[in-house]
Amino acid sequence: MIPSILIANRGEIARRIIRTARAMGIRTIAVHSDVDAAMPFVREADEAVCIGPAPARKSYLVPEKILAAAKATAAAAIHPGYGFLSENAEFAEAVMAAGLIWVGAPPAAIRAMGLKDAAKARMIAAGVPVTPGYLGADQSPERLFAEAEAIGWPVLIKAVAGGGGKGLRRVDAAQQFLDSLDSCRREAAASFGDDRVLIEKYILSPRHIEVQVFGDTHGNVVHLFERDCSLQRRHQKVIEEAPAPGMDEATRSAICGAAVRAAQAVDYVGAGTIEFIADASEGLRADRIWFMEMNTRLQVEHPVTEAITGQDLVEWQLRIAAGEPLPLRQDQLAIDGWAMEARLYAENPATGFLPSTGPLDRLRFPAGIRIDSGVEECGEVTPFYDPMIAKLIVHAPTRPEAAAKLADAAGAVQVWPVKTNAAFLARAAADADFVAGAVDTAFIERRTEQLIPPPDPSPEVIGLAAAAIAANSETGPWGALTGFRANAAPEFCVAVEVAGHIHDGRIAAEPPAPASLYDSGAERVLFAAGTGWAFGPPTAGHGGGSGGTGDGSLLAPMPGRIIAVDVVAGQAVSKGQKLLVLEAMKMEQAMLAPFAGTVAELKAQAGDQVSEGTLLVRVEPAAD
Ligand code: ADP
Repeated sequence: MIPSILIANRGEIARRIIRTARAMGIRTIAVHSDVDAAMPFVREADEAVCIGPAPARKSYLVPEKILAAAKATAAAAIHPGYGFLSENAEFAEAVMAAGLIWVGAPPAAIRAMGLKDAAKARMIAAGVPVTPGYLGADQSPERLFAEAEAIGWPVLIKAVAGGGGKGLRRVDAAQQFLDSLDSCRREAAASFGDDRVLIEKYILSPRHIEVQVFGDTHGNVVHLFERDCSLQRRHQKVIEEAPAPGMDEATRSAICGAAVRAAQAVDYVGAGTIEFIADASEGLRADRIWFMEMNTRLQVEHPVTEAITGQDLVEWQLRIAAGEPLPLRQDQLAIDGWAMEARLYAENPATGFLPSTGPLDRLRFPAGIRIDSGVEECGEVTPFYDPMIAKLIVHAPTRPEAAAKLADAAGAVQVWPVKTNAAFLARAAADADFVAGAVDTAFIERRTEQLIPPPDPSPEVIGLAAAAIAANSETGPWGALTGFRANAAPEFCVAVEVAGHIHDGRIAAEPPAPASLYDSGAERVLFAAGTGWAFGPPTAGHGGGSGGTGDGSLLAPMPGRIIAVDVVAGQAVSKGQKLLVLEAMKMEQAMLAPFAGTVAELKAQAGDQVSEGTLLVRVEPAAD
């Protein structure tokens, strides 16, 4: 067995690998950036080495620094996790050249699968069905257009070097083609340094189905069944599950067989995933599932496969890297029940899912399910890395039970003051069509409105907040409360301030459970259905959360650059009017007037770099 391992990654994946390595008696070494020094994965490793400043390109993405740390700590192996250097063939080679064990895919397989066009050509040769399309070397716009016409609209333009949902353009009609091609190429050149594209038929009612495969150094390859990752937002996975809903045995054996052939075609070793796209317009059918790409690493969503197979995939990786044969034969693997995973992100659905970074003063997860998380209460979500807080993983005998468990779990999440997608996840998991298994990749897009939680508290939340204030009052049930009637009883309406606004609410018969309340000292927060609501007696001046302070001052919610200012000092503005636009983490966020009034202070100019919490503009309310 491998005596020691350095994990060239951070957060939940580093913790995940440490957990298994420790159980196997392997010494673990973490590497981390400055800002990650206090993260749980650093503490949990047997040793830790700081490899540089926060930006990943100065720390986690620098092969020399990682190799130097491995040398200094006498590590025997390197596990790259996922993301970062996990699919970097040069790094894999450098690790092996340094005499270390690489717990990852063979460099030749990474290269063979690295470019989408070459990978597809190779799969065609191996008899794996691929999406119909054009993979040719002739990249002239005329040729690409002619090929798109021949495939038939709609088509998908894909950057051959693309990944992570970038460099994809759907084109519905001939007249949009050239503009889409231009913008796809620009994005591909900027993101991947390669502007070549391929054209694919755009599959309608597409489902994303992927197969977990494993190969060993003795020439064996097995699959661990499929996962369905159709629930996506902007081509990024949100909820994953295993097995795939509506999968019959014949279709399963066809695609899992194709996945094994794909892995064999590149002499695959270790954990890999073959991604397929299915045309599910008439249910899943073996002749309507096509190869999309192979990910030559462990996937974020591997826990759902672990849940249904009862296997530890990191243990499999470590055993295979040590030269052992696959732990199980194909006929020893079976599916047990149903598993789902939801990705809990520090992001705000109300602002178009902009990342919401900052302190995690409160971070509570439901008990009784698997949580893979890289952060802990009193930690922080920094703007430097992926803003995922945790993966909520449930396992149940049947799919409806798993969906119900996931909805409950997401609804029970408590995070403050950072905003999360928990309420959004809870709504998605409880959606009737989702529960019925009627999913495809446009599911979320079609129901964004229904899935985004309302910005205002429900009458139940207001009632609970009122009851919490009442129960907490020192001078008898309702005595000292501004705005509360002295003789208020549960059937009475009272005023209560929730999320910065005063509401009239009927006091709930029962006060909220203490576990759903959080008192930061500065404010009290009530958690319900995945959302936190700051509340108090009226006029307590509780802020509505990030961005506003309640008095009309708009602060930068995260570090960024001002790209437009639409108002001047002294200007009258209406509620919701756009004041300025901040670009942060490659996304634009419009800052809106919280109420009607005048621009009393304007502290930002187009082009300014601003840090989090900087006052940008202050609106003075109109006298009414
Ligand atoms: P990336 O490498 O950037 O993740 P993929 O090729 O894996 O790109 O595609 C990402 C997502 O785009 C898929 O999960 C699927 O939802 C959608 N997609 C890809 N190819 C097609 C296609 N031919 N038709 C319809 N949707 C597609």
